Amino acid sequence: MNIKELLKAKKCNCGMEHSCDIKEIIIESGGISKIHGLLTEYNSIVLVADKNTYAVCGNDVSKQLGEKLESTHIFECDGFLIPNEKAIEELNGKLTEKTDLIIGIGSGVIQDLCKYVSFNLQMPYFIVATAPSMDGYASKGAAMIIGNIKVTYNAHVPKAIIADTAILKDAPMDMIKSGYGDVLGKFSCLNDWKLSSVINNEFLCEYVYDLTYEMLERTKDLGEQLLARNEEAIKTLMEALVGVGIAMAYVGNSRPASGSEHHLSHFFEIVGILKNEPYFMHGTDVAYSAVYTQKLREELLKIDVPSNSKRLSREAWEADIRKIYLDAAEGVIELQNKIKMYDKQDINICREKWTEIKSVLSEAPSVEDMKKYLESVELDITEFEKMYGEKKINDAIWYAKDLKDRYSVLWLHYFLNAR
Ligand SMILES: [Zn+2]
Ligand SMILES: [Zn+2]
Repeated sequence: MNIKELLKAKKCNCGMEHSCDIKEIIIESGGISKIHGLLTEYNSIVLVADKNTYAVCGNDVSKQLGEKLESTHIFECDGFLIPNEKAIEELNGKLTEKTDLIIGIGSGVIQDLCKYVSFNLQMPYFIVATAPSMDGYASKGAAMIIGNIKVTYNAHVPKAIIADTAILKDAPMDMIKSGYGDVLGKFSCLNDWKLSSVINNEFLCEYVYDLTYEMLERTKDLGEQLLARNEEAIKTLMEALVGVGIAMAYVGNSRPASGSEHHLSHFFEIVGILKNEPYFMHGTDVAYSAVYTQKLREELLKIDVPSNSKRLSREAWEADIRKIYLDAAEGVIELQNKIKMYDKQDINICREKWTEIKSVLSEAPSVEDMKKYLESVELDITEFEKMYGEKKINDAIWYAKDLKDRYSVLWLHYFLNAR
């Protein structure tokens, strides 16, 4: 797969013209030395990093900018930098009327902040990747924490992604594992996409589905080589992470890359932030969560004929949501009032299509296979169980779906097994 080929627009059998606004993708050893050549259109650049990412390659990137460097903003933070109102204000304060480009150095959060702030100002941005840790590099979505809730805004893609594999291979190992986990999660989300296309007739582009699956296939067996920091394996992982982002741009939303496993991981992150409880790095959480969403599929596969199950009363549901989401509950309730996903669940459709539904559910790798992939990068599911405990994991399985307006196996499982 040639990642640059993906930047060319193409007419698809699904009826869409798939395109992506990224102009340059550099994933290679020594990639940073090519930044200078990408700057002809720009004159006043603000460089953004945090303490750690600046230490990785800040000086090298600075040198590439020369006199075009307007200023450098380095976020000071202990632990995780949170992409919230405070961080947005801080970054906005560094931009001037002259600024014509933002270059972020980092991975998830720096990227989301640069994306969100530059989009609101209609200004381009580049990202210099410091870790193959998640698949947001090429995506339009900016995952922010606003009013204590994780909100993914539809923003824009970077004009350029620069990923120097000689730097990426030395990224902290937990970030490499996280990137691998984010890719593994595609087994779960692609299955959810197909499930929704069967149950809800949701749009599914075969080309984008296959493209994402192909990147997953190329990456899934690289666990050991990633642990050994093999640069070729790191390059393949990064190509998958960027490629999946392009797949999202192709359909205009995150459907090819985010389903039930992401909803669980968002649950742990949001509740973690609300209650000041620990949570795993994004892709690691996604990979662990994908084991649990697979458990749900295997549970559902045991059902011979779906029967209408007990539904929670509206009052009981609201009470649970308030108990779990605290300050963020109002937003969750409002979202579900708006999209009426509960009203759309239809037992007749499940019965009519049960054979087809089961055939989709049976396509995803088994719980045992998923655990083996995790073990290939020394991720142990019992760590996940220890961190969150049974109650929190169950709460996530029941209520993570309410954070989103997207159908997944969580809805089917809730609907057919509701307490
Ligand atoms: Zn298509
Ligand atoms: Zn992800």
